[in-house]
Amino acid sequence: MRLPKIRELIEAIRALIKGPYTSKFPREAHKPHPNFRGQPKYNEEKCVGCLACEEVCPVGAIGHQDLIGDKDGPKRRIEHYTDTCIFCGQCEAACIAGHEGIKLSNDWELSFFDRKQSSEHIHKDLQLCELCGSVIACKDHLKWIAEKIGELAYSSPTLYFSRLKELGIVDENILSVMKDYGRSDRVKILCARCRRETTFTTK
Ligand code: SF4
Ligand code: SF4
Repeated sequence: MRLPKIRELIEAIRALIKGPYTSKFPREAHKPHPNFRGQPKYNEEKCVGCLACEEVCPVGAIGHQDLIGDKDGPKRRIEHYTDTCIFCGQCEAACIAGHEGIKLSNDWELSFFDRKQSSEHIHKDLQLCELCGSVIACKDHLKWIAEKIGELAYSSPTLYFSRLKELGIVDENILSVMKDYGRSDRVKILCARCRRETTFTTK
């Protein structure tokens, strides 16, 4: 029989003293490595509802629904499906909200008995066109764009009026006094199609 080398002998003695390298789970809670890629989690405060994460997800683990008739006002429901996710991190990498709207956590205990627990969701307020009622974007997304482009936002009435409304400095009475063949529509928050039509059409 070949005699062990000194280095292997030292390693064996060290292992005997230190005990097993593996964790004592389930007797002791397992602490994953800080870079472990676990369950992605949404941050409702930071997310602006742009859907870039849904766009880049390679397996369709993110979906959304625009709930126009919600009793608390129109909302966008963004949902993450744990049972489909492959924890690749593309959603976090593409998140326009400083990679904070959705983030991989180190949550790895993802087994469940009820399929309803396999998804998590958040809600974001939607901005609808004040003429035709179609979806423009999430209110936080419009705010994000306005902040990104700075003073250029003044060139877009939709961004400009959204910002004024959010700051509470829009005089709603202006709409009732401007009964002037459609001109009052120009000071509303409009989708691109209605903006074009109200700009080029005189009733
Ligand atoms: S981690 Fe990857 S698979 Fe999971 S939701 Fe994000 S992009 Fe989709
Ligand atoms: S802000 Fe980030 S998390 Fe929210 S919808 Fe956009 S990409 Fe997804």
